[in-house]
Amino acid sequence: MTTFKALQIRETDSGTFEQVIVERDLAQLPPGDLLIRVKYSSLNYKDALSASGNRGVTKQFPHTPGIDAAGVVEASSVAEFNVGDEVIVTGYDLGMNTAGGFAQYIRVPAGWALRRPQGLSLREAMVLGTAGLTAALCVDKLEQSGVTPEDGPVLVTGATGGVGSIAVALLAKLGFTVAASTGKAEQGEWLQRLGASQIVARSALQDGAQRPMLKEQWAGAVDTVGGDILFNVVKALRYGGSAACCGLTAGVAFNASVLPFILRGVNLLGVDSVELPLVVKASMWDKLSLQWKVEGLEQLVSEVSLDQLPDAISRILAGQLVGRVLVRID
Ligand code: NDP
Repeated sequence: MTTFKALQIRETDSGTFEQVIVERDLAQLPPGDLLIRVKYSSLNYKDALSASGNRGVTKQFPHTPGIDAAGVVEASSVAEFNVGDEVIVTGYDLGMNTAGGFAQYIRVPAGWALRRPQGLSLREAMVLGTAGLTAALCVDKLEQSGVTPEDGPVLVTGATGGVGSIAVALLAKLGFTVAASTGKAEQGEWLQRLGASQIVARSALQDGAQRPMLKEQWAGAVDTVGGDILFNVVKALRYGGSAACCGLTAGVAFNASVLPFILRGVNLLGVDSVELPLVVKASMWDKLSLQWKVEGLEQLVSEVSLDQLPDAISRILAGQLVGRVLVRID
């Protein structure tokens, strides 16, 4: 019987949720084509929602979160993968209702796994993780809708977060002028080192909710926060501009009007990194490993072990984290 270490979220008798490190048996993992020895995972906002008992993310507890995992195949029942292959898994049901990457092992369908792109180590892949994939999808959608560096500044909201910080670095690498919006004034210099040319206080984007339109400012935007901020961003897009919408840290409600769409021809682009077809994920990962490879990601990562995760989970829920948290699975 092989046992392994995992972070487990348990519901207590009083209805609260606790995080404990447990020993599990491989036989307790769900059925699947690939048994993967996890080397690295990463912390995303959704993991923190799962860890705090959010039933929109995870219905049944006890549960092991972790929507990202990178590791080595230890057993395979399919021809496409061999023992020893290095793979990455992000999204689908991993870490939601399927035991996730905050553990030494996962077992998943082969249709969720991608061979590690040659230009990225397993560690680098998890520094990016779902956050990096999502940032890349947002930038890709902006480009597809015609936004170019010559059109003017691109705004990133929630800029010190995982998706936001990678979006800032990626856009700067691609030659865009980046405006970074943050609620953490003290992180302005850090955002400038990542590539932002302008820092916008989050509070400035909260003003003007009652006004039908705002002054044209942004050629494009990557919005990771949603809520009233998103509509204020849409109202301040330049004529024909586009905003990619991927997150909800400021709220899920989106009270909008048609005016920016019919007066300025702007576009609101939805981004999902979870159920995206594997072939599209693969093409994004290839880009992230080659022409979109962002150097200097070390400045935005902090590394934790499984034991140190609960503290990082509390901080991401409180909106206090800066950059990405890499989870090293020993
Ligand atoms: P993080 O917690 O790392 O980043 C979120 C950032 O949002 C914070 O750092 C903070 O940035 C800002 N923020 C926090 N609270 C508030 C608030 N109340 N109002 C306004 N801004 C706030 O999360 P991730 O980067 O992992 O994820 C960002 C969002 O994107 C989440 O909602 C997540 O669920 C979503 N997401 C969606 C995906 C998809 O496929 N669509 C995939 C991955 C993530 P600052 O202080 O700099 O303003």
